[in-house]
Amino acid sequence: MSSVDADVVVVGAGISGIASAKWLHDHGRKVIVLEQNAWTGGRIRTERRPGEVAGAYLQHGGIFHTDQYPRLCALIEELGLGARVQKQPSAFNANVLQRGQWRHVDYGSLLAPIRFSALGWLDSLSLLRAAAPILATGPPHRKDDFGTLTSMQQFDEHECTRGLTSTAADYFAAGPHEFLWGVRSNKISKAMLALQLQIFKGDLKELQGGTQALVELMAKRLDVRHETQVHSLSLDEERGTVAVTAGSDEQVLHARAVVLACQAPVAARLWPQAPSIIKQHLEGITYSRIDYIYVRTSTKFYISEGQEIGMEVVPAAEVEQGPFRTIGGMYCCDSWIDAGQEGSLLLVTTSNAADAATIDDDALAMRLQEELEHLHPQLKGNIVSRSSIIRHDDYTPTFSQGTVGRLSRAQLELESLTRDRGQQCQGAIVDLAGDHMAAPWMEGALYAGHKAAQRVHSAL
Ligand SMILES: Cc1cc2nc3c(=O)[nH]c(=O)nc-3n(C[C@H](O)[C@H](O)[C@H](O)COP(=O)(O)OP(=O)(O)OC[C@H]3O[C@@H](n4cnc5c(N)ncnc54)[C@H](O)[C@@H]3O)c2cc1C
Repeated sequence: MSSVDADVVVVGAGISGIASAKWLHDHGRKVIVLEQNAWTGGRIRTERRPGEVAGAYLQHGGIFHTDQYPRLCALIEELGLGARVQKQPSAFNANVLQRGQWRHVDYGSLLAPIRFSALGWLDSLSLLRAAAPILATGPPHRKDDFGTLTSMQQFDEHECTRGLTSTAADYFAAGPHEFLWGVRSNKISKAMLALQLQIFKGDLKELQGGTQALVELMAKRLDVRHETQVHSLSLDEERGTVAVTAGSDEQVLHARAVVLACQAPVAARLWPQAPSIIKQHLEGITYSRIDYIYVRTSTKFYISEGQEIGMEVVPAAEVEQGPFRTIGGMYCCDSWIDAGQEGSLLLVTTSNAADAATIDDDALAMRLQEELEHLHPQLKGNIVSRSSIIRHDDYTPTFSQGTVGRLSRAQLELESLTRDRGQQCQGAIVDLAGDHMAAPWMEGALYAGHKAAQRVHSAL
């Protein structure tokens, strides 16, 4: 220990890096976490913007979980946050626009296709045939393969829309993917649809007060150094150390191991010597994007009177046909409004058919509000404020065909590297965490963080 600053340096204070660091810290390792942002949580952020949206908190990233998130549920209990968990029974209850008509569907129910009026019987049949093998497989964590996702490999080589009629692809598959994950369904593999059907079912749950508090609590006893960007990594195999260059004053930190818990392209850049199997995985990951505004109304807004509807979806097929050019959907987040405050809080997203990256921020925010008011004329005069546009270039890693196979091979390669190092008791250790190393949501990020920590711990 005399020549190193820590046993392990973790790059990235998102939920995955913090999970890794906490596990190692709890197992007696000295850990330093380096984070380029001023906050802990990475994509998981809860903030207030009183100048833009008063009387409510806003959430970015890591909002919902379900009972299919066993690690997150256990962590919530361990951190004493159980009383803050709120069910959102209407959250997946959606209205989907189809040629000017709103159609109702419950995306959280496996039987939804049968009752989804946007679909004819041939469309429903195509969905049921596509979903049957997925439903027979069961959730990945039951087989403890959340990392390698072996049970999902059988769906890896197929497009998500394979076997679906075009209406089923546009109006059922498009809803979850375009609205929730920001990507067209024909761009992702059936493995991602399978993961989603298995993981996002039942009630959606959220943490009252926002999810960032959970990551901050996890990080409480850790040495997290904010506003410290890591520029490069060098491996001294002989001494078995890793040197990390970070921060504006170019400080160098030495450790026996480093866990790269940053996004896949950053990890690929920092670790150019990675074995080719690992590089193939890192370089094969792409992230979807999401751009949205928050809108605050003066009186309570109901999407649809008499029915508890949590969200509205405008599929890309609608945006391509007009008259809407921009809006992708809306989610009602009234549960984030402070007690005693009136009105509603709406999160309004951009359609991925709108090429939002090329549109100026103010123009995009204005267009979203205009199209929202066009969809719901009763909102005119009821909107009291709206936030500026919020952009996430790296929303979630998307699994295209072959991703699960590459991920699984990368995981096995990391296991074997660790075994070899452990046996030889030498060599600098680099490992990977982050939501691109498992199912691409909070549960996967936690899983990947814990797995990296366990591998590193056993090799040190
Ligand atoms: C708007 C939005 C909504 C979402 N909703 C949900 C949801 O409802 N449920 C769900 O399960 N998931 C959701 N997700 C996904 C979820 O937020 C992510 O899966 C999870 O937060 C990923 O955690 P992570 O630690 O892998 O990555 P990140 O949180 O991205 O952490 C990586 C960290 O590395 C840091 N970093 C990168 N490069 C460097 C560098 N060179 N030096 C230092 N630090 C660096 C970054 O700043 C970042 O803090 C959502 C995401 C977004 C954006």
